[in-house]
Amino acid sequence: MKLPLRARITAWYFAVLVVAFASLAWVSDIGFRHSIEKTVNDASRANLDSIQSVLVRTAPKGIPEVQDELDELGNLWAGAGLLQVASADGKLIFQSAAFTQSYLPLPPVTRDEISFLTDNLGTTQYRIASRKITTGGQVFLVRAAIPTEPFDQALDRFRLILQGTLPLLVILASLAGYWLSGRALAPVNAIIRTARCVGVQNLSSRLAVPRANDELRRLSETLNDMLNRIEASVQRITQFTADASHDLRTPVALIRTSAELALRRSRTEEEYRETLSRILATSEETSRLVENLLTLARADAGAAELHFNPTDLVPHVEKIAEAAAILAAGKNVEIQKELADGPIEVSADAAAIERLLLIVLENAVKYTPPGGKVLLSLSNGSGNARIEVRDSGIGISAKDLPHIFERFYRADHSRSRETGGSGLGLAIAKWIVDMHHGTIEAHSESGRGSQFLISLPITSNH
Ligand code: ADP
Repeated sequence: MKLPLRARITAWYFAVLVVAFASLAWVSDIGFRHSIEKTVNDASRANLDSIQSVLVRTAPKGIPEVQDELDELGNLWAGAGLLQVASADGKLIFQSAAFTQSYLPLPPVTRDEISFLTDNLGTTQYRIASRKITTGGQVFLVRAAIPTEPFDQALDRFRLILQGTLPLLVILASLAGYWLSGRALAPVNAIIRTARCVGVQNLSSRLAVPRANDELRRLSETLNDMLNRIEASVQRITQFTADASHDLRTPVALIRTSAELALRRSRTEEEYRETLSRILATSEETSRLVENLLTLARADAGAAELHFNPTDLVPHVEKIAEAAAILAAGKNVEIQKELADGPIEVSADAAAIERLLLIVLENAVKYTPPGGKVLLSLSNGSGNARIEVRDSGIGISAKDLPHIFERFYRADHSRSRETGGSGLGLAIAKWIVDMHHGTIEAHSESGRGSQFLISLPITSNH
């Protein structure tokens, strides 16, 4: 089982502190011992110097004088130091009581420079410094000893203090760490609390952004951005569903009322025919709407399958132009074509391209009054296939122009209702163009016709 982050941080903190404090104790112990040893050695050196100055002063006056003076020096040091002096041949001249009691025989002093050793004299441990001292042609072998007990006691006290305080410090510091990590993680808990409350019903709530410019602030901002995007998507979906239901309800109601009215009493065959053809026309319109809705829903889900193949646009443009010509002829609108001579090949889904052309051409015919003209051209312009559909129709106002590619957007509802539009055509057209990595633009002015420009990359790697 994983521990909460706060507990894990504290555990790590505790482990690091234990290692750090243990190292500190170890290093200070070594340092303290070195410092004690140096102090003891320095004191021994000073003692040897005192003995040397006694020897320098008294040696010329004879051995008894030397013994007297050394005795005095020994009394002066009392318990704080012992001394022992022998002649070059090892004959003892003077020694403090502790030496006589338990420290015989001494190893011979052989070296001029000081040598140290630690040893027990009786029950007490001493640090003993030895040296040869030469004065006035005589050689003395000298030893000075200092009890180590006071220093050992100091070391013991130091260790006791460390042992008593360090674990306490570690525990206190860990508690402080636990508190600190709690404080540091408090904003995370606030984020969790708010995030738990966010649902489809209240997608507008946002996380509070901490004032400090740190990771938590960036996290909150990122999550808020994500919520913005999700909210926008959900709004689009909700709007789409609402619009779709609304648009479906109208024709279904129309079909139902037509049938109900027809059935209310017996009618002539003529009347039945009329009703049935109205029902058929409305059904066809509804099918188209449902098919468009399905296309967009599949596009949203990323499930719409397009099959890209190298495709020459010319025959497809020709085909759709013919289909549109039939529509146009019924309305007394003229369609003019200007098609490139050679093939214009793009990587495309032929069916999707035909659908795109049909949407734009049908619109052009639909929104152009009788007697008007629609121009369709296909040309090759700097690496792009360029399709232009221009009409002399009613045009699009500047207010509507930026929205015509949005789903369910109709420039004028009553007008579009008459012409049977649902506002999905251009949204599908835009999606098809996007899938082909192309662009679609509309230029228009109210009352002065419209121009739709589609550009598709000629060399494309799908
Ligand atoms: P619709 O099915 O209503 O035509 P579209 O998505 O195809 O839906 O077009 C959106 C709106 O753009 C239309 O309702 C119409 O007002 C406007 N529009 C599109 N093409 C033209 C055009 N050639 N001339 C004038 N208005 C147009």
